[in-house]
Amino acid sequence: MIAADLILVGGGLANTLIALRLADKQPSLRVLILEQASAIGGNHTWSFHGTDLTPRQNDWVKPLVQYGWDCYEVRFPKLQRTLPGTYFSTTSERLDAVARERLSGRIRTGVHVVELQPDHVVLADGSRLAGRAVIDGRGAKINPHLDVRFQKFVGQVVQLQKPHGLTAPIIMDATLPQHDGYRFLYTLPFDEHTLLIEDTRYSDSPDIAPVAYENAINRYAEDQGWSISSVLRKENGVLPVILGGDIQAFWDATPPIPRAGLQAGLFHPATGYSLANAVRLADQLAELHDWSAGSVYRLTRETSERLWGRTGFYRVLNRMLFLAADSHDRRRVLERFYGLSSGLIARFYAGNNTLLDKLRILSGKPPVKLTRAYSAVFSYKPATSPASLRTHP
Ligand SMILES: Cc1cc2nc3c(=O)[nH]c(=O)nc-3n(C[C@H](O)[C@H](O)[C@H](O)COP(=O)(O)OP(=O)(O)OC[C@H]3O[C@@H](n4cnc5c(N)ncnc54)[C@H](O)[C@@H]3O)c2cc1C
Repeated sequence: MIAADLILVGGGLANTLIALRLADKQPSLRVLILEQASAIGGNHTWSFHGTDLTPRQNDWVKPLVQYGWDCYEVRFPKLQRTLPGTYFSTTSERLDAVARERLSGRIRTGVHVVELQPDHVVLADGSRLAGRAVIDGRGAKINPHLDVRFQKFVGQVVQLQKPHGLTAPIIMDATLPQHDGYRFLYTLPFDEHTLLIEDTRYSDSPDIAPVAYENAINRYAEDQGWSISSVLRKENGVLPVILGGDIQAFWDATPPIPRAGLQAGLFHPATGYSLANAVRLADQLAELHDWSAGSVYRLTRETSERLWGRTGFYRVLNRMLFLAADSHDRRRVLERFYGLSSGLIARFYAGNNTLLDKLRILSGKPPVKLTRAYSAVFSYKPATSPASLRTHP
C-alpha cells in the first residue's frame, strides 16, 4: 500500500513550495511532507526581487510575502545608490503558517528519514513508507563535484527604542572595514522599530564566530544611531558560491532519486539564493502527469542541468571575485558592478543577463590584475581540496 503519490523528504523551502503549488494545480494528488523538525521551514528570512519571478509566479507566492519594498539601497566608499525595483521577504514562521493552513493532513513533522529510495523511505523508527515517487529536499549537501566558496552571515532581528527612519532595505552597506573576504551589512526594515541586520562575508572559509558577528552588528547599529532595546530572533547561514564543477557527476554520485532545492543544485551560483528556482521547479512539477519516480527524476535532473548550462557566466564572475581579486580588493569589484544600469543588475539577480549585459560587465578596466583575471577565466581547474567539498558547516 502506498502512503502517498509523492513523498517530499524535508519540509524546507523547496518541498513546501512544491506541495503548495500541487495543492492548487493537482489537488487530488496525494502529497506527504516528512520534516524532522517540529515546524516547517527552519529559521530563515528569505528575500527575492520581484523581477526574479514572472507576474504569475509573483501572484501565487503572494500569500507567503510578509514584507515588501519598492526600491533598495547599496552603499560603498565611492558609490551610494538607490535602485528601483520591488524587493520582498518572507520568513519560516509565515511558510509554516501558510503550509499548515493549506496542506492540512499532508505534513508530518518530527519525522527523521534515515533512508531514501526512488519509491520509498525508511524512518528512524524503522517503518517504511512507499510512494509513487520520492523527492529529496533535505537542503545543502556535501558533494565533491562542486567547487564552492561561501557567502556566510549572522543576522539579528532587533527592536529599537526609536524609529530607525529607513524606508527601503540596504542590501549592501560595504562602507565598513573589510575582513575575511568581501564584507557588508544587510538591513531590512520590517516596521518602523524593527530591523533585520546581517553581517555578511563572501569568504574562502565557511567558519563563523557568531559572537564576533553579533558584536559587529551591535557596533553597526550604534554607528547608525539605532539604539537596540531587544533581540527578537537570530539566524545564520553559509550559502554556497559556485566556482565550477561537474553537474553530471553531481547527479551521478547518488542513486536516481528526484531532488529539489539545494539538494538539486537549484540556486543562483553567485548569491546562493534558491527561492526563485524553487518556485520555478514547483511550477514545472505542477504540469507533470506521469508521477512515476523515473519521470520525476528526469524532470528534476533536467531542470538542474539546464540551470547549470545557463549560468556558466556567473561561475566565471565568481572565479574573478575569488581567484583574481585579493580578499581586500573584492569590494572594488562589487562597487564597480553596482554602478552599472539598474536593468542589468535586476537581470543579474534573476540569473538571466543578456549577451550585451555580459560584455558590459566584463568591459572596461577590471579592478583586478589582468593576468590573474585571464587565468581565473581560461586556466581554471575545479579544486578538489577538502575545503572545496564543504557546502555547509
Ligand atoms: C539563514 C539563511 C537565509 C537565507 N536567505 C535567503 C534569501 O533571502 N533568499 C533566497 O532565495 N535564499 C536564501 N537562502 C538560501 C536558500 O534559499 C535556503 O537555504 C533554502 O532554505 C534552501 O531550501 P531547501 O528547501 O533546499 O532546503 P531547506 O529549506 O534547508 O530545507 C531542508 C529541510 O529538510 C529537513 N531535513 C533534513 N534532513 C532530513 C531528514 N533526514 N528527515 C527529515 N527532514 C530532513 C530539514 O530539517 C529542513 O527543514 C538562505 C539560507 C539561509 C541558511
